Amino acid sequence: MTATVPLLLHNGLLIDGRGGDPVQGGAVLVEDGLVRWAGPSSAQPPLPAGTREVDVRGNAILPGFIDCHVHMAAPGSELSLGELAVLPGSLRTLLSAPRMERTLLAGVTTARDLGGADAGHRKAVEDGLVLGPRLIVAIAMLSPTGGHGDFRSGTDDRDSDEPMTRLADGVDNCRQAVREVLRKGADCIKIAASGGVWSPTDQPDDDGFLEDEIATITEIAAGHRGKKVAAHAQGRSGIINAVRGGVASIEHGYEIDDEAIDLMLERGTFLVPTLTTAHTDPDPAKAASWAYAKKRHWQQVARRHIPHAIARGVRVAMGTDCGIADHGTNLRELGHLVEAGMTPMGAILAGTSEAAELVGMAEEIGTLEAGKRADVVVARGNPLTDISSLGSPENVLLVMKDGVAHKDTDALLG
Ligand code: ZN
Ligand code: ZN
Repeated sequence: MTATVPLLLHNGLLIDGRGGDPVQGGAVLVEDGLVRWAGPSSAQPPLPAGTREVDVRGNAILPGFIDCHVHMAAPGSELSLGELAVLPGSLRTLLSAPRMERTLLAGVTTARDLGGADAGHRKAVEDGLVLGPRLIVAIAMLSPTGGHGDFRSGTDDRDSDEPMTRLADGVDNCRQAVREVLRKGADCIKIAASGGVWSPTDQPDDDGFLEDEIATITEIAAGHRGKKVAAHAQGRSGIINAVRGGVASIEHGYEIDDEAIDLMLERGTFLVPTLTTAHTDPDPAKAASWAYAKKRHWQQVARRHIPHAIARGVRVAMGTDCGIADHGTNLRELGHLVEAGMTPMGAILAGTSEAAELVGMAEEIGTLEAGKRADVVVARGNPLTDISSLGSPENVLLVMKDGVAHKDTDALLG
């Protein structure tokens, strides 16, 4: 279903995701779902016969963004945890469809779902049944008993039937758990390396899986065509266990310190700080008192530690944890990254080429270069002088995925 007529988007401020200076009078040539060429119009190659030329009126042309941390099956503030717990599975799935659409229309053309969306969500988008970003799915978070994926209360001895997580303890059981999610079609693996805010019986600075369990999981994932492991890790000890165990990314990383930073710089581990969620204030009417207190405390921890990690040059990829935060304004994360010390260009790279590297798709997405998939966003104005503008979906004028436009607010394409 790719557009067969070649398309030239021109008269744009081209920010191609490679980190060089933006190009005034930039253009992108799209054909058969791929970028054929991108650069200054002055260097434009001869156009294929029949090319449609589209004037983007000086607005910014960017690669489609990649959100490395979402949960399409989780509701943000749409539902309380109590309401979510009693939803039939079919409804849980159906409710994720409009969230996927909102995410795409916000400018996110690829999303890594770190728990909750299964292979069916991915296929529904691929087949055009649901409008949404291309999905990379972890299916369920692996967690130790009593860890971040265990939502039972301290007096509940029943087996966990939480669909978004898979409990495992010890190296052998971790082997089985990771093979289970791989069998179900996981593209990447998500683990709990520390406790968290919304799990009732642990704290974010409690350990989750230990290093031997994590190393076992990363080894098995790597042996399945290099699949990567993302670790929920908030307290410093959990962060260090996860990095030592060989994960590709630390999700949240709120209490990251110099020891963890040194290890991450040495190993090239990414930080996905999920500031959208960190900065979302808990609703005292909806959050349990224990969760409210944890959230308040760990917001402050994140504000103290994340800017230091950014200043020291840890690799950052954009991820929002939408699903915990509300879906559909994912690019607000770029503004938060800049508040935490990144340059606007650095934040854009975190959401494009760096994110593509983390999700293992750098050959296909993340920059506007010949041969890449034609995932293209046109956004109002110059995001390098006002990064927060990208966070408002009304400033995202055009969203193209694989060369097909799914949003064209200003009728640029006519
Ligand atoms: Zn998490
Ligand atoms: Zn999450």
